[in-house]
Amino acid sequence: MRHHRLTLCLILLLQCAWLCVGTIHTTYAQQRAKYVFYFIGDGMGPLQREVGEQYLKGITNDPDATLLMNQLPVQGYIHTRSANNEVTDSAAAGTALACGHKTNNGAIGLLPDLKTSIPTIAELAHQFGLKVGILSTVTLDHATPACFYAHQANRSEYFPIAEQLAKSKFEYFAGGGLAGLKNDQQNNLDLATTNGFIITQTLGALAEQKPGMRVIALNDSPNAQRSPLPYDLERNEKDITLAEFVSHAVRLLDNDKGFFMMVEGGKIDWAGHGNAIGTMAREVTALDDAVKVAMKFYNDHPDDTLIIVTADHETGGMQKIGKPNAAYLAGFNQSYDQFKSKLKQLVKDKATYEQAIQMATEHFRLDPFTDEHNQVMKITWTALLSGEPIKHNHGKNNQFTENCLKLAAHKAGYKFTTHGHSKADVPISAIGVGATWFKETQDNTSVPKHLYQLITGMPMSVLDPPPSPTPTATTTDEAQTD
Ligand SMILES: [Zn+2]
Repeated sequence: MRHHRLTLCLILLLQCAWLCVGTIHTTYAQQRAKYVFYFIGDGMGPLQREVGEQYLKGITNDPDATLLMNQLPVQGYIHTRSANNEVTDSAAAGTALACGHKTNNGAIGLLPDLKTSIPTIAELAHQFGLKVGILSTVTLDHATPACFYAHQANRSEYFPIAEQLAKSKFEYFAGGGLAGLKNDQQNNLDLATTNGFIITQTLGALAEQKPGMRVIALNDSPNAQRSPLPYDLERNEKDITLAEFVSHAVRLLDNDKGFFMMVEGGKIDWAGHGNAIGTMAREVTALDDAVKVAMKFYNDHPDDTLIIVTADHETGGMQKIGKPNAAYLAGFNQSYDQFKSKLKQLVKDKATYEQAIQMATEHFRLDPFTDEHNQVMKITWTALLSGEPIKHNHGKNNQFTENCLKLAAHKAGYKFTTHGHSKADVPISAIGVGATWFKETQDNTSVPKHLYQLITGMPMSVLDPPPSPTPTATTTDEAQTD
């Protein structure tokens, strides 16, 4: 009798297990993302998001204000290391996020042998019939966007990367221009025009384009063809925002078969390299504004849309050292590049220390300076004026600027521990179809694999990754700045 009961229990258990597997399998197969928004904040770790949110609280004077990306229902983390380094660069991380494979720092869309090309999720989605858009605040041939359409051994080879953009079959590129715009023989935007792209350089011209047209949308500025977008703190009336570029992406790409778009906030990383906390905070909120555009689309298509917001790595090794000071952060109204320009002019004019420190305290609101601060700052100003070679660090700040930035970060409640990238895990947030797949902490390579399955209903056919060498370094390669 006892034996019989045990057998019965076993059968029931097995049936239960089979039913569970069946249910999981069905759910897996039924979840299809027709519209995918893939946001990548370059260098956006957890504290970059927190600082962005504090800045938002400050400028809205609302202690309850939050970033939309921090409010999405699914919040997880991804590991970031590359094939050959514990600390990744944007090329290797972009390749992981786009292709589902680890590669070496510097490589774009290739395995670590630097020869074997691997398909990107954007290419695969396009083959499946989705329209594709690639958007970034930095130049479109920069590492992160390049990882979605190009295959190149070295991320610095901008011309051949830009040429691959020009020859791409995707429908929409928007944001910065091309660092590899032209050589003696060829202009890559001319090549793109031959390939059927329409180039727009004003918001009005972009608005005139109709769905079905293939567009490269650049900013409205004299150097737009080869420049990144300005820092959001420097933006003037004519500059087109990332959110506006996303809004037109939705309009131009929307179709019955769906779309995939990758949207990068690329200058969060640049400000992170500079350890410029105010500039960085504003870049995070500018990316969040772009996420809001996607959210509006999601609200109209909740059963078909997936929004992901993540990062390639953390930049600056940020740490919290006190209570965040939202009101202080909100006072930044110029970028640190603008500060550096003003400082350069003062050096050129051989300004006095008092003039220099007045400009610095106005920009960073560092008043009152202690005697100790004044002593240190005087030395760095004298060094700047005397033209003595000043040791440039990774963020390329002189010591005078460096000290100001350090004090500003402290005043905001934080500190930077490096001018490079760190090996920290980074947040991933999601809402919509299959969002729960991003809940558990996972490797960055799993993100495009999930996306492929959610878009096509099929598992991503992947090449066997080669064995990774043991990582040795723990800080960013100094030669590799982004
Ligand atoms: Zn970087």
